[in-house]
Amino acid sequence: LPLVYHKKILVLGLAKSGTAAAEILHDLGAFVTVNDSKPFEQNKNAQYLLSKGMTVICGSHPENLLDEGFSLIVKNPGIPYTNPVIADAKKRGIPVWSEVELAFRISDAPMIGITGSNGKTTTTTLIFDMLEGGNKHPLIAGNIGTVASSVATKATEDNIIVTELSSFQLMGTEELKPKIAVLTNLYEAHLDYHTNFQEYTDAKFNVTKNQDENDWFIYNGEQKIVTDYALKTKAQKVPFYVSGKMEVGISADDLYVYWNGEKLFERSIIKLRGKHNLENVLAATAVSLLLDCSLENIMEVLTSFHGVKHRTQFVREWQNRKFYNDSKATNALATKSALEGFSEPVVLIAGGVDRGHSFDELIPHLHNVKAIIHYGATAERLQEFGVQQAIPSVIPVSNLIEAIAKAVQLSAEGDIILLSPACASWDQYESFEDRGDEFIEQVLALNE
Ligand code: ADP
Repeated sequence: LPLVYHKKILVLGLAKSGTAAAEILHDLGAFVTVNDSKPFEQNKNAQYLLSKGMTVICGSHPENLLDEGFSLIVKNPGIPYTNPVIADAKKRGIPVWSEVELAFRISDAPMIGITGSNGKTTTTTLIFDMLEGGNKHPLIAGNIGTVASSVATKATEDNIIVTELSSFQLMGTEELKPKIAVLTNLYEAHLDYHTNFQEYTDAKFNVTKNQDENDWFIYNGEQKIVTDYALKTKAQKVPFYVSGKMEVGISADDLYVYWNGEKLFERSIIKLRGKHNLENVLAATAVSLLLDCSLENIMEVLTSFHGVKHRTQFVREWQNRKFYNDSKATNALATKSALEGFSEPVVLIAGGVDRGHSFDELIPHLHNVKAIIHYGATAERLQEFGVQQAIPSVIPVSNLIEAIAKAVQLSAEGDIILLSPACASWDQYESFEDRGDEFIEQVLALNE
């Protein structure tokens, strides 16, 4: 890579992807300096990078750092664009790449880039499973947990890198050009750390900005903000529609899924619940068809895929009750999506940290909720909400374990028992993953 070899490069942020980027750049022959605001002792990788011969500056972002004359900055997605070093780089005209741009530059393997406000991980996982079943040698990368540039160093031209891309990662891209780009949807509620909605949407659209007529752009055909932008892409367009058959793109009505208006398969084979998941399924199916996966293989994934862990994940059927773990639902919008997927009676377990948000989003989807069992810091507000909405049983308990016991007691055959907290987990758990793991463990321990 001529932009890298024997060049002075600054890596900002020493978390997982920053460390990986620093090491890769070093191995490619760059003179690497790494900088992190945390003190040296608190950076578990600092000593390692120092021992490899890199310059390590920890504890602050020194004011004159860029006087060193760097030709490129690679930043960890966690570093905001308001960081003074980034602002200074902008003034000096030094390019700032996110770590996924580096990943794109160092590999010749085709990339599939998946972004959107919601559904990224589910869509990425579905695509990976379909391509794997179709023997296309996919590698999974990005926001989903494996650092994209590390994956890219291992990829050969026979691989396809399936990359989940956050808006933050996409902001620092220059030449990133996925063979297939997917934009699931755009919601204003998901501003993350962006300064405004325009900045956020612009970042998302970077996924297609370099695509040409040999590439494909798969996008939500039912969201105006997305279709407006799709007018500008040079890629071949494949919109998806979940509200009825369409003659172009991939679409679904209540009975079938269609590809350019032709029947593909019956909708009933899809195990994932909810209209939102149908979006993810259609997007993933389109990607796999474009890459010549067989329909049989695609259908096999759809009949066996019960959801990514903690995302309306089917856990178990026990005494004719179905248990779902949607611990990832840390706000009311996500819980709403989960509830939409069920027509059976639901016993909902909710609660956790109160961020002061309203639960009103749930109101149109409460008709089949027969009980809300809640615990944690939000107890009072959930109690009030449930009573106001005339939910037949609204019961406070002190923790998740008690909530499961209560849910079992209140449920009847044919019911859904759903953990979809609509709240963050930090009052009683380290993370939503820990909360979901506890739910799974307890539910699997219910004995016959
Ligand atoms: P992301 O990776 O974008 O956060 P996930 O696939 O992890 O998305 O799903 C997170 C949550 O978002 C799910 O539990 C579900 O409630 C909701 N969700 C998933 N897909 C969609 C979609 N296409 N539209 C709206 N909400 C969705």
